[in-house]
Order: sequence, then structure tokens, then C-alpha cells
Amino acid sequence: MNWQSGLVKTILEPKNLIISSEIAVVIADKYPKARHHYLVLPKEDIPSIFHLNKTHIPLLEELHLLGRNIIEVRGKEISDFQVGFHAEPSMQRLHLHVISKDFISHSLKTKKHWNSFNTDLFVTHDKLCHMLEKENSVQRLPKTLKDQLLATPLKCNQCEFVAKNMPTLKEHLLDHC
Ligand code: AMP
Ligand code: ZN
Repeated sequence: MNWQSGLVKTILEPKNLIISSEIAVVIADKYPKARHHYLVLPKEDIPSIFHLNKTHIPLLEELHLLGRNIIEVRGKEISDFQVGFHAEPSMQRLHLHVISKDFISHSLKTKKHWNSFNTDLFVTHDKLCHMLEKENSVQRLPKTLKDQLLATPLKCNQCEFVAKNMPTLKEHLLDHC
């Protein structure tokens, strides 16, 4: 198995499944980028968002339901979470990120980490479903746009502050807690 199959390997271990339905499972992200970071994966072997069409919308609703379930199980509010997909996923098997908006974590290290959750590189569940309704598929972002989004200044997700680097941003995020 190559590194991109890490998620598939993780869900094969029953002890890793926090929630499991007939259709999907919830696991903890191994390198959480916030205090709460979960992944919801379908049992069906769908490689990525680029393999979806509008017939998959009910499946996506099930993934979202399990995402809401884990937030509830943890006693948290959905308004404190972002729920969606990376426009350029790196790991195989479709996975929905359920991540708390604090972004406080030792594993949050790079500008790429930040911008992958805080620019259009993050596609919310609602936006993805809307895209599928309209276009019946999800297209890759053009490379120029991807590069532009990755280079976006480090703007706080909770105020207007723009940090000069990741250590400054991480220190600033602590002030919001
Ligand atoms: P993506 O960029 O959307 O493909 O995100 C993949 C996510 O999987 C990242 O948030 C990683 O921290 C996480 N991850 C990588 N390997 C594992 C693993 N073996 N088990 C659980 N999560 C993982
Ligand atoms: Zn701020």
C-alpha cells in the first residue's frame, strides 16, 4: 500500500472507527489541524471528489449526517466547525473533513495547511452538492488558481488580522480562545 492509501488502511481497523453506519465511517484525523478534526469516509470505494456525479448527493448527505453526529457526540456546536472537502485532496478514498474553527494544533505547521482550509481550496459540503446539481461533476482547479490560493496572505479566520508567518498566526489564534 502506498502513502495515499493511508486512510483506507486506517478504516480497516475496527478500533479506529468512532462512528460507523451501513454507508460510512468516522475516524479521527491522524494529524489534526485543530482541536477537533475528523474524517468521514464512505464504505464504497470512491477514490475522490473527481469521481462524483449528482447521483452521489444522497451519499454526501449521509457523510454530512455522520459529520453532524460526531460534533454532537463531542458535545460541540456545528457553527464552530467547517465541514467540507479539499479541492485538491492528497489522500485516496473520498473524505469529508469535519474540523473545528479554532485551528489550534501542533500539526498545523505550514501556510499550505492554513490556506487549504481557509481559502477556496476548501469546498464546503453545501458548495460541492450545489456544484454537482449544476454541473454533474467536480473539476480540478486550474494550476494558476491553485498556486494563487496557496500564496494567499495568512488572514485570521476570526478577525481581520493578517499574520506575517505561521508562528505569528498560531500565537494570534490562541488569543481567540
Ligand atoms: P486531504 O488533503 O483532503 O487528502 O487530507 C488528508 C487528511 O488525512 C489530512 O488531514 C491528514 O492529516 C489525514 N491523514 C493522513 N494519513 C492519515 C491516516 N493514516 N489516518 C487518518 N488520517 C490521516
Ligand atoms: Zn483573529
